[in-house]
Amino acid sequence: AAPLVTAVSTSLSAKKGLLIRNRTNFEEGRHVDAVVFDKTGTLTKGEFAITDFISVNGERNELLRLAASVEAESAHPIAQGIVRAAEEEQITIASPSSFSSLTGQGLEGTVDGKNVKVVSPGYIKEKQISMDEKTFSGLSDQGKTVVFLLVDEEPAAMIALADQVRESSKQAVAELQKMGVQSIMLTGDNQKVASWIGGQIGLDQVFAEVLPHEKAEKIKELQKDGLKVAMTGDGVNDAPALANADLGIAIGAGTDVAVESADVILVKSDPHDVVALLKLSRSTYRKMI
Ligand code: ADP
Ligand code: MG
Repeated sequence: AAPLVTAVSTSLSAKKGLLIRNRTNFEEGRHVDAVVFDKTGTLTKGEFAITDFISVNGERNELLRLAASVEAESAHPIAQGIVRAAEEEQITIASPSSFSSLTGQGLEGTVDGKNVKVVSPGYIKEKQISMDEKTFSGLSDQGKTVVFLLVDEEPAAMIALADQVRESSKQAVAELQKMGVQSIMLTGDNQKVASWIGGQIGLDQVFAEVLPHEKAEKIKELQKDGLKVAMTGDGVNDAPALANADLGIAIGAGTDVAVESADVILVKSDPHDVVALLKLSRSTYRKMI
């Protein structure tokens, strides 16, 4: 009777908006102890808007122009937020004559002969560049993501951006708790922002300031602690972690690499579908015995 049950649950999963790529790992989902979520684009909408622009050296619109000119080369949600702000203010963006990504820490480019970097607080700390700690802390405590604009290696501005927590994230975490499953967030963003969002959503654990190559390592560590781990993500950076997890779940709107590394794809970008998925995995197994 097993094949029939399988067929039924496959059409059921399709109806629920779950595309199952790896049947075995989907069925193993019934043993999952912890779900690890990527923050940006998964638990949050991944739609950043500038809330504060603090000029340190230079005129605001000119600094926004420089920042947007390099960010126009990036697909990161932070980059999109900065470019959108420039567009809304009808600031003309230049094309950088060179460009490179500082993986998980931002990017740099040459604009009008100047070296322009937009980087994470982690980068600033690492390079021991001085900044206004008090302003930075104040913004981070409000859950805002802060990035720094450097022009020719000199601090030029602090840019704070706010994303929005998805409505269904909190509900999904509460239901997972009822099912005895832990919820963990993995993010490259700052510790304070991560803690703030963790509090909003009711997460069990938060790992912040995780570089892209460290995401897959973190999954292995949790597995070494004896946990069966599901990972949910959308980005290129999440692909190795999705592959390492016992159950890799990609958000349908995510990048191709993430989708190809996953066992299950959620058609809608809804964290609540992770709950539906684990429930389906549990009930499918019960029917089979
Ligand atoms: P996550 O997907 O968990 O939000 P990422 O690894 O994509 O994190 O990014 C980590 C951090 O690196 C961001 O919070 C930001 O500080 C910095 N960063 C990454 N890409 C950019 C970018 N295009 N512009 C500015 N900062 C960036
Ligand atoms: Mg991401």
